[in-house]
Amino acid sequence: MVKKVSIEPGCTTCGLCEFLAPDIFEVTDISHVKKNACFASNSDAIKEAAERCPVQVITYQDDDADTTNS
Ligand code: SF4
Repeated sequence: MVKKVSIEPGCTTCGLCEFLAPDIFEVTDISHVKKNACFASNSDAIKEAAERCPVQVITYQDDDADTTNS
């Protein structure tokens, strides 16, 4: 289960993460992780967004181990 999500510098505001996980990401000037977002119930969508982000700037931390998409 995902417990932490971060956006590293370099977001191109393509909007894909917000499309895939609208409860988690909000893209304005850059992508942001929404306040009070429920990571646990959106784990699969977060992981898909991290995998599909074209510039690979979404990182997340799993319960079991530190995990990133890099
Ligand atoms: S998918 Fe990646 S590049 Fe696109 S808006 Fe989200 S963080 Fe930014």
